[in-house]
Amino acid sequence: MSYFRPAIDAMTGYVPGEQPKSGIKVIKLNTNENPYPPSPKAIAALQTIDSDSLRRYPDPFAHEFCQAVSEAIGVPKDWVIVGNGSDDVLNILIRACAEGRDRKVVYPMPTYVLYRTLAAMQPSETVEVPYGENFELPIEQLVAANGAVTFIASPNSPSGHSVSLEDLRKLAQQVSGIVAIDEAYVDFAEYSALPLVQEFDNVIVLRTLSKGYSLAGLRLGFGIANPKLLSGLFKVKDSYNIDAVAIAVGTAAMRDQEYKNANANKVKTSRSRLIHDLKNIGYTVPRSYGNFVLATPPKGNAEEIYLKLKESGILVRYFNQAGLADKLRITVGTDEQNQALYDQLTLIG
Ligand SMILES: *Cc1c(COP(=O)(O)O)cnc(C)c1O
Repeated sequence: MSYFRPAIDAMTGYVPGEQPKSGIKVIKLNTNENPYPPSPKAIAALQTIDSDSLRRYPDPFAHEFCQAVSEAIGVPKDWVIVGNGSDDVLNILIRACAEGRDRKVVYPMPTYVLYRTLAAMQPSETVEVPYGENFELPIEQLVAANGAVTFIASPNSPSGHSVSLEDLRKLAQQVSGIVAIDEAYVDFAEYSALPLVQEFDNVIVLRTLSKGYSLAGLRLGFGIANPKLLSGLFKVKDSYNIDAVAIAVGTAAMRDQEYKNANANKVKTSRSRLIHDLKNIGYTVPRSYGNFVLATPPKGNAEEIYLKLKESGILVRYFNQAGLADKLRITVGTDEQNQALYDQLTLIG
């Protein structure tokens, strides 16, 4: 006899990347955090939060933040749903749409593992469709799977590739359910799928302040879709899912696009350098449109290298899963951090 629902007993919990205790000195290239600090304007906003805004409940719809999003990316204010991280918006989507066998969660593999975890909790059946050899989107199989929600991360983690707008369009046209395009890494990419939100009433685009805006600790993300799609999601969200601090700090960060873009440009320049360096020591590294690279060491001994790096105080991400066991996902750090990684990899040989 268990205290829990059968679905909970049967599932494996999500395993986040390691978060070393603060004060312990490591080079942290394992969870795709931005190596640069958040906007000074966001920090200033944090310092001006008054006692009353903590005493009261926060605005359940974070209107001030939605207004900043509207101005920054040119969508109407009532096309935005805000979440406690974009993980919260993923959770809201699954809670609102998925159930059992008849309302499945569908996604191509490999991708962000949280889609599976959230579906298992619901519970909802999942259909995991393998990507093509060169990460072509398996549109036909995704459509055939008939998901209540189909998740596409673009740029995708851990592969780093972007899915073409043409393929996303075909998918949105053909599936009957919702297509959720997870753009956690869009700030480091070359294009966004945002126009599809206007073209299709079943498309939602998800964004986060965790990566591009250097605010992973704040927990703030959002989704953009037409108000009719959002109306179902608003019913299931926690009333006060975003706190007053996140609204104030996130609004200031969103209004400072210039700062965010400048950091993203630095990361992109470092990304090219890192890919070049890794290739130089025999690694296979495909192009990446995120703030990370997926690198295959020449001898394929990824786990061993991961452990040796860890011993030397450098954390990268190792996924012990089919198709990824010979690879390392390495977050792009500052040039200094990337150099330290490179030096250590050269030592390990
Ligand atoms: C980091 C990440 C998220 C989570 O973002 P939060 O806003 O921090 O919850 C969502 N999707 C993908 C693909 C990510 O890599």
